[in-house]
Amino acid sequence: MFFFEATITVLILIIVPVITIEKNINLKAFNTFGVDASARYLCRLRQPLELLELFETEEIRELAGNRVNILVLGEGSNLLFTEDYPGLIIKNEIRGIRVLEEDEKSILVEAGAGERWNDLVGYTVGRGWGGMENLGGIPGTVGAAPVQNIGAYGVEVSSLIERVTAWHIDSKKWLTLSNADCRFGYRDSIFKNELKNKAIIVSAVFRLTKGTVAMSLSYAALTAELKRRNVSHPDIREVFEVVQDVRRTRLPDPATMGNAGSFFKNPVIDSGHKSRLEKEYPDLSFNPHGTGYKIAAGWLIEKAGWKGYRSGDAGCYENQALILVNYGSATGKDILELSERIQASVLEKFGISLEREVNLIP
Ligand SMILES: Cc1cc2nc3c(=O)[nH]c(=O)nc-3n(C[C@H](O)[C@H](O)[C@H](O)COP(=O)(O)OP(=O)(O)OC[C@H]3O[C@@H](n4cnc5c(N)ncnc54)[C@H](O)[C@@H]3O)c2cc1C
Repeated sequence: MFFFEATITVLILIIVPVITIEKNINLKAFNTFGVDASARYLCRLRQPLELLELFETEEIRELAGNRVNILVLGEGSNLLFTEDYPGLIIKNEIRGIRVLEEDEKSILVEAGAGERWNDLVGYTVGRGWGGMENLGGIPGTVGAAPVQNIGAYGVEVSSLIERVTAWHIDSKKWLTLSNADCRFGYRDSIFKNELKNKAIIVSAVFRLTKGTVAMSLSYAALTAELKRRNVSHPDIREVFEVVQDVRRTRLPDPATMGNAGSFFKNPVIDSGHKSRLEKEYPDLSFNPHGTGYKIAAGWLIEKAGWKGYRSGDAGCYENQALILVNYGSATGKDILELSERIQASVLEKFGISLEREVNLIP
């Protein structure tokens, strides 16, 4: 077995309050695309132990028999509701940050899955614990970070995760998954595969470095901005600030323009395909990735002519073609349809299948 059952010791209070299940809830405020959809049931999970009670509720037991009817929701910044949700949405609001262990060089920090990711980054950077600074400014919750192995500015969260605690819906048992158990890959993990819709992450433990010297400075956009600011030996606070500033200039703010960040993953192609494309497109750049080469999906979409395209209220962001946007009243189906047209045209032009990064719900 690649993971073992654990006695949960974290973030639990002795008294378990009664959990409330709301019915027919509008989800517009629960997804950063800002699309209209509703959920049959929604409950807010504030403590891990509430799961025991929740899954004893009769109507939820029925739904749990059919896993597609249960969705864990963080801030809804990496999903697209394509229609009303027929089942139960568990809105993760488990809070709490605490230090588990420390020595001279490193520190183990545990955070509840419902903590805001950027708050955790700010908290750790503010205390002089290094590791998360390049991941500053990413929307969403701590619990969703391992799901797609969030990454930015040359760092993936998998490099910091020690272990993840989750509730297994079928067996009704607690699991502790080590870093290796999580099977992290590029925007991928066991939670998007074998444990998809089966595990509810309640907390994660991160190993951080004591000391404020920034360690990951290889990402071009980050080094360029540091250079522009005449910062030659940045500390983690400076990197945290610069990363957030750069992100603000490049990405649309979901508060003013609905979006879920990169809609597609950057594709990886083999060396034969790379050689063919290089001949035709000398300005195309590649990064070695495993046995193949990674290409910027945004570049492909832009070259296929989609940047700035708009159909009704669904569009392809004018400053970054990898981001699909909702200008106001686009439906999930409108955005999905646009994404499929983009996929078809990139396939036709470059022979490359773009894989979605955003999760389609249901
Ligand atoms: C403007 C913008 C910029 C972004 N930039 C980046 C970036 O630089 N790098 C990057 O990697 N991502 C980026 N994203 C995507 C997104 O922020 C991350 O994927 C984030 O981790 C999603 O968190 P969330 O809480 O909103 O998850 P949600 O969207 O609520 O959920 C995403 C998926 O994870 C599952 N899930 C959520 N919580 C749990 C849990 N506790 N247990 C089990 N499953 C769970 C959900 O069921 C769903 O399938 C960006 C998004 C936006 C809007």
